[in-house]
Amino acid sequence: MANTTQTSSVLIIGAGPSGLAAALTLAQNGIPIRIIDKATEFHKSSRGGGLHPRTMEFYRFLGVAQDAKSLGRPLPPVQMYKLPGGTEVVANWKLFEDMHLTPDRPEETTTVSQYINEGIFRDHLSKYGVHVELGTEPASIEQDASGVTVSLKHAGVDEAETARFVYVIGADGARGFTRKAIGAKFEGETKEADGQTWADIEVEGISSDFWHVWTETGKFSILMRPKKEPGKFHVGIVGQDFDPADLATDPTKFCEFFYANTGRKDILLKNFTSLTYWKPKMRMVNKLYDGRVFLCGDIAHVHSPTGGQGLNTGVGDSFNLAWKVALVYKGLASPELLATYQTERMPVIAHVLAVTSNLYTGLVHRQQDDSPARSTKEATSFFKWRNNALRQLEVNYRWSPVVFDARGILGMDEQTLQAHAYEGYPGESVRAGDRAPDAPGLADATGSETSLFDIFKPYKHTLLIFAPEQVGSRTEEVVAAARNSPLGSVIQTLVLDRHGVPAAVEGASAYHDKEGHAHKAYGVDEETLSVVVVRPDGYIGAFVNDVDGLQAYFTRIARGPVV
Ligand SMILES: Cc1cc2nc3c(=O)[nH]c(=O)nc-3n(C[C@H](O)[C@H](O)[C@H](O)COP(=O)(O)OP(=O)(O)OC[C@H]3O[C@@H](n4cnc5c(N)ncnc54)[C@H](O)[C@@H]3O)c2cc1C
Repeated sequence: MANTTQTSSVLIIGAGPSGLAAALTLAQNGIPIRIIDKATEFHKSSRGGGLHPRTMEFYRFLGVAQDAKSLGRPLPPVQMYKLPGGTEVVANWKLFEDMHLTPDRPEETTTVSQYINEGIFRDHLSKYGVHVELGTEPASIEQDASGVTVSLKHAGVDEAETARFVYVIGADGARGFTRKAIGAKFEGETKEADGQTWADIEVEGISSDFWHVWTETGKFSILMRPKKEPGKFHVGIVGQDFDPADLATDPTKFCEFFYANTGRKDILLKNFTSLTYWKPKMRMVNKLYDGRVFLCGDIAHVHSPTGGQGLNTGVGDSFNLAWKVALVYKGLASPELLATYQTERMPVIAHVLAVTSNLYTGLVHRQQDDSPARSTKEATSFFKWRNNALRQLEVNYRWSPVVFDARGILGMDEQTLQAHAYEGYPGESVRAGDRAPDAPGLADATGSETSLFDIFKPYKHTLLIFAPEQVGSRTEEVVAAARNSPLGSVIQTLVLDRHGVPAAVEGASAYHDKEGHAHKAYGVDEETLSVVVVRPDGYIGAFVNDVDGLQAYFTRIARGPVV
């Protein structure tokens, strides 16, 4: 092919949170990548600010959670003011109920401005020599059986570059190019009558300890969300029957709307660093991939910011996809594994869309009511997100053809299992397809302690062998079977005992489950050999009791789903 650069890279289109999460996961897996973005400079908007607990867990596996915590802040309580007047506090509440942190669920929601979050990822990517190529976008994407040819336009350069890639991940946002390139439909609706205008602003005259809200039910809500730096806020005007585009043309218009509707002339809004608008969309694609080209994040699903799910779901997409691309790229897994990206994520995305659309209806479309008491109650109810599923800890893939539980699927058919994709099975024991819980207090022979979440890595399968003494050599057989499997080079194995540090087994690390957190979280007893395979994305791939069970999992990954 004339003038076509042959590369052995994966191309990531779009350097928002979804593209960056895919990029860092692939880089940590040792896969050569290029990541491009059509923007000519990095944005400065706070938009996706809430990182929910499951996302914080993914961040921990990727090694970026600590940065997110130190550059972010916990969710502040919400404070709502009476209108007209705008100064009298009529309600004060927490957006989410406090999460009861437990040894198996150690992370809570953190808020970090999206541009800072993206900067963290870019810093970590630079350690792998990866830098976002700004001002670069695809003009065409064509694929054949062996690769993908992409014509790339560079800002200010007349001639396009043409390059071959092994795979392409399109994470180019709601209005991106890749969706059209693979012929995916974007089904759903755009709320044409509704609008949102958001700005990053410095504010004087109001506390940074609260998320401030002024609302006229059925008309508008003005939301003032504090950032980490005192005096800096992300401020939104959300509602109906106003022109969000017009408000976004000029900070003065934004300020006029704010003052006219809150009455808070005592507050000074200054130094706008971002000012954007959008029409709420509730849409998702009918397919997440075509051949070697995949869609992650907003390009595949857009929803209202109610519930703060967009960024979190996009990162969840990327984390589900990237390890699969890495294994297939390395020839360690069957290309059919890639199809399970769609099988696993589509039901989750559909539920996220349904839940966020319901929350949005509560926010903007409640009937107006002259009674102030009713109006306050209604206004606060949309903003009290009491649906625990929003934390995304219950997301699971129990119906996936590549997970295997030796105990069966409890008589549920695929449709019933998918109905629980997002809200899960609270209170029930974990099974294959579920989130792998954390367990602290694991002591090795030197007495030093660690936790599963400090061991899980996005480039490793982790085998947990719960091995009571009486199972004898069966532990060694399991370790050997894992080592000799097609995934042997990317497996780390832990042998866990409740009563002390187990005898050393070659190729495995031995831990005393001192407090029994691991045994409890995984619901295993102290007499039976139990083997749990945790995938690189932190989900349980297999829950088995012997070498045959383990082989059944490897067969699914290595040769494609067993039907
Ligand atoms: C006001 C507001 C508040 C929000 N709050 C939350 C929240 O609290 N929690 C949450 O989870 N989500 C929230 N969201 C949603 C969140 O911002 C998005 O879901 C998130 O940005 C999606 O990330 P992404 O990487 O998929 O897409 P984007 O962030 O849109 O990134 C796409 C990237 O691709 C680039 N691009 C576009 N087209 C091309 C092209 N043709 N070629 C190359 N590059 C291209 C863009 O420049 C951009 O950098 C909020 C959104 C808004 C607007």
